[in-house]
Amino acid sequence: MADLGASQHTRAELVELERRHVWPPYTPSERHERQDPLVIVAAEGPALIDADGRRYLDAGSSWWTMSLGHRHPRLVAALAHQAAALDHVSAGGATHPQLALLASELAAVAPPGLVRTHFSDDGSTAIEAAVKIAVQYWHQAGHPERHEFIALTGGYHGDTAAAMSLASIAAFRGPFAPLLFATTQLPALHDDWPRALEALEQHLRARGDRTAALVVEPMCQGSAGMRMYPAEALRAAHELTRRYDVLLIADEVFTGYGRTGLMWGCGHAGITPDLMCLGKGFTGGMLPMAATMATARIYDAFRGGVDRALMHGHTFCGHALGAAVAREVLAIYRDEAIVAGVAPRAARLAAFVRDLATRGLGVRPRALGMIAAIDVGDGGYRGDRGWRIASAARNLGVYLRPLGDTIYVTPPLNTPMPALDAMLSAIAEAIASPAPG
Ligand SMILES: *Cc1c(COP(=O)(O)O)cnc(C)c1O
Repeated sequence: MADLGASQHTRAELVELERRHVWPPYTPSERHERQDPLVIVAAEGPALIDADGRRYLDAGSSWWTMSLGHRHPRLVAALAHQAAALDHVSAGGATHPQLALLASELAAVAPPGLVRTHFSDDGSTAIEAAVKIAVQYWHQAGHPERHEFIALTGGYHGDTAAAMSLASIAAFRGPFAPLLFATTQLPALHDDWPRALEALEQHLRARGDRTAALVVEPMCQGSAGMRMYPAEALRAAHELTRRYDVLLIADEVFTGYGRTGLMWGCGHAGITPDLMCLGKGFTGGMLPMAATMATARIYDAFRGGVDRALMHGHTFCGHALGAAVAREVLAIYRDEAIVAGVAPRAARLAAFVRDLATRGLGVRPRALGMIAAIDVGDGGYRGDRGWRIASAARNLGVYLRPLGDTIYVTPPLNTPMPALDAMLSAIAEAIASPAPG
């Protein structure tokens, strides 16, 4: 059994302290006060283990991060090994072996042409950096008037100011709307993508020469409710950005690292964006670290004098522990053929949601790689049927977090088949009989 760390305190004591002092993300206060949180003391592979020793399969990979499952032995070893040598050194003026090697290894696995990496802490900071790089790029390329951004309806890019400005989900913008800069929200690519592309082209024809970049979540809008769209649409959107000389920012924070069945969502369309944001699976969920990758064309606009340097950077940029773990993630992907292992599991996920729909337990079944989703009510993001299903699933040993009335499954990419089957049948049972409201 793993060391339970804080187990000298009872579960009830910990919950009491949590209720009194923790301000959790995206959690209505009444739910926080009323609903018993899971008290997780350990984790292993696809499972979380609570204070009573109960195991819960982590159906959402803990907010889409644990692509290799929990505490992969090689990641634990890489972290310990690096901690014994070097923890952190500021990256402005110094480097370290893990950082230089990680950047070169990322360039080797990224879509061809993304050769340069700026490191940060999480998905939001990776987006924030991409937005500032795009604006400063055009400024220094002699087009300061190109500072507008296009985003797609339903897109989610994080919780910092620029990231929120790119979002259109009203629930996320909320009271912050007056603080955000204006962006153009165009139709997403999942409903009627030929029409959406027409709207994009029309906008580019009118305002392309004012536009810095188009920002997309390649192949699948995650937080919007797992809305997938065809590679053809992504390829055509990329082509339009070439025609109107607008940058393409690919937000691969969720879709990267094999989640969609290829290493990158962009890979389905065979495209290289100008900027690519990585997070979530970047360290296999072990540490907060993220990256913004850029092409040589982008980087070259930042050469030519002290006043042309990138005016952006975070304290923990290039953190040595994160870099060591991020390198080991790439090595495990290679050695354990993680992305190739997605196909048989993806088939199970797709069959799972199709079967639910056939049984009348949901509508709009959809699946891509290690993502499957179905709508179980029409309350949208604020719906509560999803939460009642999550509650029932918990009693059956599965931890899932719904997006309102959308139930989704995004398990670790290497979830063993028997665990995957157990997870899916428990979720099916929970959907068939949700907890009372
Ligand atoms: C989660 C997410 C982000 C934000 O990442 P954080 O690590 O939460 O800051 C950005 N873009 C997409 C597509 C995401 O799914």
